[in-house]
Amino acid sequence: MGNKKLMNEDLKYIFHPCTQMKDHEKIPLIPIKKGRGAYIYDFDGNRYLDCISSWWVNLFGHSNPYINSKIKEQVEELEHVIFAGFTHKPAIDLARRLVKLTPESLNKVFFADNGSSAIEIALKMSFQYFKNRGESRPLFVSLQNSYHGETMGALAVSDTGLYKDVYSDILLKTIQAKSPSLVDEDEAISDMRDVLNRHKDKIASVVIEPLVQCAGSMKMYNPSYITKLRSLCDEMGVFLIADEIAVGFGRTGSMFACEQAGISPDFLCLSKGITGGYMPFSVVLFTDDIYDAFYCDYSEGKSFLDSHSYTGNTLACAVANAVLDIFEKDSVIEKNREKIELIKELTKPLENLPNVKEVRQRGMICAIELQGYDAKQRVGLTFFQEALKEGIYIRPLGNIIYFMPPFIITDDEIKKMVGVVEKLLRVV
Ligand SMILES: *Cc1c(COP(=O)(O)O)cnc(C)c1O
Repeated sequence: MGNKKLMNEDLKYIFHPCTQMKDHEKIPLIPIKKGRGAYIYDFDGNRYLDCISSWWVNLFGHSNPYINSKIKEQVEELEHVIFAGFTHKPAIDLARRLVKLTPESLNKVFFADNGSSAIEIALKMSFQYFKNRGESRPLFVSLQNSYHGETMGALAVSDTGLYKDVYSDILLKTIQAKSPSLVDEDEAISDMRDVLNRHKDKIASVVIEPLVQCAGSMKMYNPSYITKLRSLCDEMGVFLIADEIAVGFGRTGSMFACEQAGISPDFLCLSKGITGGYMPFSVVLFTDDIYDAFYCDYSEGKSFLDSHSYTGNTLACAVANAVLDIFEKDSVIEKNREKIELIKELTKPLENLPNVKEVRQRGMICAIELQGYDAKQRVGLTFFQEALKEGIYIRPLGNIIYFMPPFIITDDEIKKMVGVVEKLLRVV
């Protein structure tokens, strides 16, 4: 069966994520047959370089032989088991390793099965922490232009109107402070201080995406903001939640983005790269102090009873352990430094083109912001379609073209990726 036939079968039944289905009257849906390394292959024999890591999840290539072998090993032993009342070795190993790798005050781990759920857990726990002490703090603060996921709580702390506005009548009440990605850092901190001062006794936590607001047009800011925010949250007695769902696992150049600010958040949410793009999975790490607030006799009613059917999935834990193995044995963070430099060298000069407003980069995330196009033109879509013809898969966010490739991408593939976009920038 070729692409066309499969596409038509699909469109008979399936409603795709983040998609206006009517677009597929004009834009082909691409059935993918297999993935190898940085490439995905369709049913007509075309291959595409996956420059966005299949929505920012893939780290070490598609169908990675080492990860595959670890899944096979695990599936022969145990695929999944209920995680209440039972445990398993992959989960224990993973928890120990994550506690060791992440900033020092994070000593406890709670598992979930996607990024949004991890955010829900951090919000619920931060709220209940105060509730357990007899305080009601129903407010959460996030940054303007933020994105934390699509479930109701995660959407409520997000500020991406495209996904959120239609649901505004039914969302939790939250406050968005000025973002250091949009205004001067001191102005952002001072606005955060005002917000916290005004509602101090009602706020449970502040949630941020450290260094890069990915879904928010890949807007970036400096680690110094996070350092200042950490002190401010301490001063005000509210929790700091770091949403490293997109930026964790090496994306910003360090294993975790918070490292660059030299701080420990109270909660750290991880997903996406944690399984190298293989399985839906997430974890929330938090402090002993938070853990202790829920530790009591069952009859006291202070338990944290959140659960998901697939919490602590055994295969996902085994895959996450395999991903950590690769980070260790291949010195991934060090090796990425050269790739980061190469991407910088190749993309920075693009700023001189008249239709490029800015090129910004943080580690393995590089964004090219376009200018001079009408929003109705959907220029991103044109770039997507034209790049695809050249075997390059990109998925621009509006007028932001960005690269977030798997870490196994080679220098030649980086050159091809940037080269195709550069060529298009001169003609589109
Ligand atoms: C993707 C993402 C989420 C949501 O994760 P899902 O697995 O898609 O639910 C939350 N926060 C950030 C920063 C993300 O990029």
